[in-house]
Amino acid sequence: MLGAATAAGQFLGFSVGNANGSLITVSHLLFADDTLFSGGKVTLIKSILSSLPTYFLSLLPIPVKVAKRMEELQRNFLWNGIGDDCKLHLVNWSKVCSPVKNGGLGIRYLRRFNSALLAKWLWRYGEENDALWRRVIGAKYGNDWGGWFTKSVSGAYGVCLWKYIRSGWLNFSKFLRYDVGDGTRVKFWVDVWCGDSPLKEVFPDLYNISRTRDASVSEVMCYANGRIFWNLQFRRFVNDQESHSLDSCMDLIYSTKVRGVGSDKLCWKLASRRGEWVLSLPSPPPPPTATPFPWKMIWQSKVPPRVAFFSWTAALGKILTIDNLRKRHFVVLEWCYMCKRCGESIDHLLLHCPITYEMWSMVFCLFGICWVMPQRVVDLLDCWACNFRCHHNIVI
Ligand SMILES: [Zn+2]
Repeated sequence: MLGAATAAGQFLGFSVGNANGSLITVSHLLFADDTLFSGGKVTLIKSILSSLPTYFLSLLPIPVKVAKRMEELQRNFLWNGIGDDCKLHLVNWSKVCSPVKNGGLGIRYLRRFNSALLAKWLWRYGEENDALWRRVIGAKYGNDWGGWFTKSVSGAYGVCLWKYIRSGWLNFSKFLRYDVGDGTRVKFWVDVWCGDSPLKEVFPDLYNISRTRDASVSEVMCYANGRIFWNLQFRRFVNDQESHSLDSCMDLIYSTKVRGVGSDKLCWKLASRRGEWVLSLPSPPPPPTATPFPWKMIWQSKVPPRVAFFSWTAALGKILTIDNLRKRHFVVLEWCYMCKRCGESIDHLLLHCPITYEMWSMVFCLFGICWVMPQRVVDLLDCWACNFRCHHNIVI
């Protein structure tokens, strides 16, 4: 793919030669691969390799086989480079693709990115009522109640693209809530407009005795003189237990901001402001750990990218020390090459080895700092981050 992109003129690079006619053509990718090392490769992957297929991913579902192959190219470029022999991949790809705050590099999963881009059509379908494409889709498949999305798509021919996009509505709608205007397109009990769940799930006892279970908000809401009143109707009088639920329900409804006029709108639960939703699709939560990953200390320090990348691999415990090599079934002596005594681990090599510690002590003495070395590299970075937050004037 990289070779094809270069051949197609996507990355022109530059040529170096002399009067004798010898000419060497160097593409940007080859130049970056030779000079930027892993820190720069991360930037290249994010800005180029992950972004090249964005246009196609926003229109078409990516086949699983293609996504795997493209991610394999990204993995090989990150760890191997171009044209080099196969090297060890130090960090699991799922970790690499996790958010930076969770200890990853924030590289996109192509299939998840593809799902987010295709889900945007569902969002636009509910928002762009007058758009031509929306009217064409609506005429072909028919609108469901409220007009936020189409009816289920059936058929075998000529429907596969919208059928695939429409199939994501159930998962997509979990992250939506409605901003109620006149309330004609939002169902009072069923849709999420008041709190984080539908009222029928929060107050099932009231829903069971409701006379208008499928009513829209506008049918329950009375708007007069700039004030809003609610008229809930039940099949019978509420009992004592249900009266408590009714009080809570009315408190919740009256505490919810409702405009009362204008059109109803979609809201993205996870976005702090409109327009952020495409890239804020939720990622899996990080595993619970005792120490939060010191991502700011690693990636926001004023150090070269290769140093930050090395710190990242060291904090994850993935650099190729003797213990990690033995885990990968390399036959090597289990000893430290510097002090020749005990087993070599990352924490030993970088923090606790007598020779390393002597160097640390020298640096600390130069700056007049008394320091007790923590057990692990990640703990050291974390406590440095805390120390710098408290004392901004400290310089090491
Ligand atoms: Zn040692």
